[in-house]
Amino acid sequence: MESRLDRIKKQLHSQSYKLTPQREATVRVLLEHEEDHLSAEDVYLLVKEKSPEIGLATVYRTLELLTELKVVDKINFGDGVSRYDLRTEGAEHFHHHLVCLECGAVDEIQEDLLGDVEKIVEERWNFKIKDHRLTFHGICHRCHEKAES
Ligand SMILES: [Zn+2]
Ligand SMILES: [Zn+2]
Repeated sequence: MESRLDRIKKQLHSQSYKLTPQREATVRVLLEHEEDHLSAEDVYLLVKEKSPEIGLATVYRTLELLTELKVVDKINFGDGVSRYDLRTEGAEHFHHHLVCLECGAVDEIQEDLLGDVEKIVEERWNFKIKDHRLTFHGICHRCHEKAES
């Protein structure tokens, strides 16, 4: 985790931003909850546990900065809440999501399944793709298993 933090620090430096203690606290929470999809409020509550002096506005600004620098992606699963998701290191495109309509769980597909689709879109619409968002809505395997037993 330290090396990951170091790399994010370098990423900020390369864009002339400093990893201030407030920013670092926010990044640490994101790293510790990498599997989760936290809202700004969620991140703030977790940051506050360790650094009660940091306010929501600071956390919010940090998240916006990290989004701009492409350290995190901002995503909305249709519930009107913006969530922040650490970008997979080295990935060119944002990972895909499986959102369960039953229990609300969000699972991730790290593999990029859209290569062929992108090729078609680029050729047919003469559109240079930089990134994409893919969210599947359905019933997760845990809810399937529960229903069966
Ligand atoms: Zn995700
Ligand atoms: Zn489920």
